[in-house]
Amino acid sequence: MRPTGKLHLGHYHGVLKNWVQLQHEYECFFFVADWHALTTHYETPYDIEQSVWEMVIDWLAAGINPGSATMFVQSRVPEHAELHLLLSMITPLGWLERVPTYKDQQEKLKERDLATYGFLGYPLLQSADILVYRAGWVPVGADQVSHIEMTREVARRFNHLYGREPGFEEQAEAAIKRMGKKTAKLYESLRKRYLEQGDGEALETARALLRDQQNISLGDRERLYGFLEGGGKVILPEPQVLLTPEAKMPGLDGQKMSKSYGNTIGLREDADSISEKVRTMQTDPQRVRRTDPGDPDKCPVWQLHQVYSDEATKSWAQQGCRSAGIGCIECKKPVADAIIEEQRPMRERAKRYEEDPGLVHSIIAEGCDHARDAAKATLEEVRSVIGLAY
Ligand code: SF4
Repeated sequence: MRPTGKLHLGHYHGVLKNWVQLQHEYECFFFVADWHALTTHYETPYDIEQSVWEMVIDWLAAGINPGSATMFVQSRVPEHAELHLLLSMITPLGWLERVPTYKDQQEKLKERDLATYGFLGYPLLQSADILVYRAGWVPVGADQVSHIEMTREVARRFNHLYGREPGFEEQAEAAIKRMGKKTAKLYESLRKRYLEQGDGEALETARALLRDQQNISLGDRERLYGFLEGGGKVILPEPQVLLTPEAKMPGLDGQKMSKSYGNTIGLREDADSISEKVRTMQTDPQRVRRTDPGDPDKCPVWQLHQVYSDEATKSWAQQGCRSAGIGCIECKKPVADAIIEEQRPMRERAKRYEEDPGLVHSIIAEGCDHARDAAKATLEEVRSVIGLAY
């Protein structure tokens, strides 16, 4: 997660709640992506440090347990940067230019100059972040799936280039010759297109071509599949996507909760401020007087009821609103109470860390040590297969 400072309920419902659950099911590495923040905010890096610590406290408050998961800061594990550099040597430019978020983000953040090397390369930095831990699964939202797809391609290419056993290439070339001139030529050109331009379609066509060969031996077929995709030893395993269900957390105005819309409730906000924010929320604009019936579908408070209220409360709000049986202040109360109640354990957990920043620093220091041990082991093997272990 990028260090964006204090988190809000959108982050909690969209990401953190899921992480809290995952930490009991998998060995988890959660990190503050401070280098990623620089890819877009390189001109204003001053508040990154403060944001890092605020965010880590929010993670702890939400229930991430340093005894169950490893929490660390990216820039404190320089192996991410070394792997990023090494992977950059083998990644075709087209793969990065093709990532859908590249153009989207440039468009969205028009006021910044993002025609930089770092910004183009940030999905590859993400690949390094994942591959350096040889991660099996990456919890992401649908918008990040293309990045994981690219990570898989990068891993495949790396394994292809550096994971082959001696003699593999000669054996594959002999197998190509055995396919017959015409097929061999087509296979070679598809393989070249995939390896040089990252053309996934060419890879699929080459696979289909191999499947269709009737006279090819099983051994040759496997060799040629391997030759297309790597073959030999897997140094960097391809990670899988663990799709996070989309959580629709509405903000105070009914739009998606987001800092840029100014419609957030903070993760550790005090109870009075939460009550006040909910109390002053806009309601159905047609409901001017207490005696006017309203329509919950036109009211952002109803959206919060859908997240926070049980069935009985929801039908009380629906009926009360439509019949003008309840007032808006009355209707808002259970929502405010539920948010305050949800946050109570978070505020309690956070207190300890807010009062003792040293404790937060030592949790992160320990996490960084643990992460670095894992990352170092990967880099040792990576350097060795490239031939840099001297
Ligand atoms: Fe919205 Fe509730 Fe007022 Fe209806 S009664 S307009 S749902 S706040």
